[in-house]
Amino acid sequence: MDGSTAPVLEGGCHGGRERLAEAARAAGKSAAMDRLTADYPRGPHDQPQSMCPAFGSLRVGLRMRRVATILSGSACCVYGLTFTSHFYGARRTVGYVPFNSESLVRGQLFEDIRNAVYETAKPAEYDAVVVINLCVPTASGVPLDLLPKQIDGVRIIGIDVPGFGVPTHAEAKDVLTGAMLKYARTEAERGPVARPRVLADRPTVALLGEFFPADPPGVGALLAPMGMALAPTLPCREWRDLYAALDCQVAAAAHPFYTASVRELRAAGRPVVGSAPVGVDGTEAWLDAVGSTAGVNASVVSAAKDAALPAIRAALAANPIDARITLSGYEGSELLVARLLMEAGADIPYVGTACPRTEWSEADRAWLEARGTHVQYRASLEQDLCAMRDVRPDLAIGTTPLVQKAKELGIPALYFTNMVSARPLMGAAGAGALAAIVSAQTRGAPRFARMVSFFEGVGTGDASGYGWRGKPVEPQGARERTRKLRLAKAKALESVGT
Ligand code: SF4
Repeated sequence: MDGSTAPVLEGGCHGGRERLAEAARAAGKSAAMDRLTADYPRGPHDQPQSMCPAFGSLRVGLRMRRVATILSGSACCVYGLTFTSHFYGARRTVGYVPFNSESLVRGQLFEDIRNAVYETAKPAEYDAVVVINLCVPTASGVPLDLLPKQIDGVRIIGIDVPGFGVPTHAEAKDVLTGAMLKYARTEAERGPVARPRVLADRPTVALLGEFFPADPPGVGALLAPMGMALAPTLPCREWRDLYAALDCQVAAAAHPFYTASVRELRAAGRPVVGSAPVGVDGTEAWLDAVGSTAGVNASVVSAAKDAALPAIRAALAANPIDARITLSGYEGSELLVARLLMEAGADIPYVGTACPRTEWSEADRAWLEARGTHVQYRASLEQDLCAMRDVRPDLAIGTTPLVQKAKELGIPALYFTNMVSARPLMGAAGAGALAAIVSAQTRGAPRFARMVSFFEGVGTGDASGYGWRGKPVEPQGARERTRKLRLAKAKALESVGT
């Protein structure tokens, strides 16, 4: 395909996923769509119930030094993604190649992207330039694979990250991380590569996932008695970290959705273990798995466990949790957090994750289910809400819409991303980190009950009475009249089309 023709497409998050996927295949993207479907199998929800999935890829690119990130997509999508990036403190320019119907149909968009890439790829400034096709350019077949692979030594990485092919922004992180690992692996296979900034003098473990800053050093301390160290964590912060991560002895898929990245690590001959050193049971099992995979003597692994487990056990005992909790999120660490809370004493009947079931969370799933927890992969917001209503927990941990609903019901709630992911999870530091916020929230239950009774009778949704003397009353028959008008309008439009 030469990038010269493309149908004009409209639609996106809120409609037309099947149509866009078909269009992408018809426009020559079958291989890319097959890859995405295999790597990120769908679940019950149709479209992202959180932010645009491409944010995951964008964030990974923006966090890397000497890497430029350029978006190709509709202006509204790019506006939202740029806004969110800066909301999360990107402090970096988001590149954008705009298009209109004509430049898309004539193939000019591809030429514009190529020009933008040539303008950006300055070796003094960048190691790599990442171009991300959003929904419409992917569905229109804009062929990023025809971009040059490098310009004056600057690597060019083009990826398709459509909302109709990548279910969550978590998995979109993997799309770019996997693409970069593939490029770096190929470079390393061809010959010498740049020396990583920090080169460990011991065998290393490469963690997959985004963690609270205190977690990687904590994991390094757990590994030290086994004569091992931590490689740069993936997604990483600069290009040559990729070489150091690929050079690991064992890769650890602590966040279990990095399918493409695992494929590259395995292609480089690196074995991969799942789960993470969380709580007593989790840390013990993880050290065993890493030790046996790396061929560490059993007595040395035993000594490493003796060094780590008493402190974790003591931290859990000093920070008990006595609460019934439902937990849901889209970050990939939901099962690990649930394990930790349960080891501290919490009762957790339900865990929902937007991420798919993979082999790297199997141990966590089995541990939770053995203790009576229902684990829902690819959980929809509706499933999370339903579980919360059924369980009536002392505390609901979840996404923004779930927390909002919990508050309406008078259930204390915590936002997973801001409150849980912003604390350590692993080793002894993680074991003591969550109890304080859980107890602060559950202590606030009477306050929530007072709030619900205070707002009793004011109405909800479009009938909420704030600012009125009474609850607004819906004019009789208004809904039915509007429905009929809409139907008539749709029919009139249909007849124009025929
Ligand atoms: S790129 Fe993101 S915001 Fe735009 S239509 Fe696709 S999923 Fe929605």
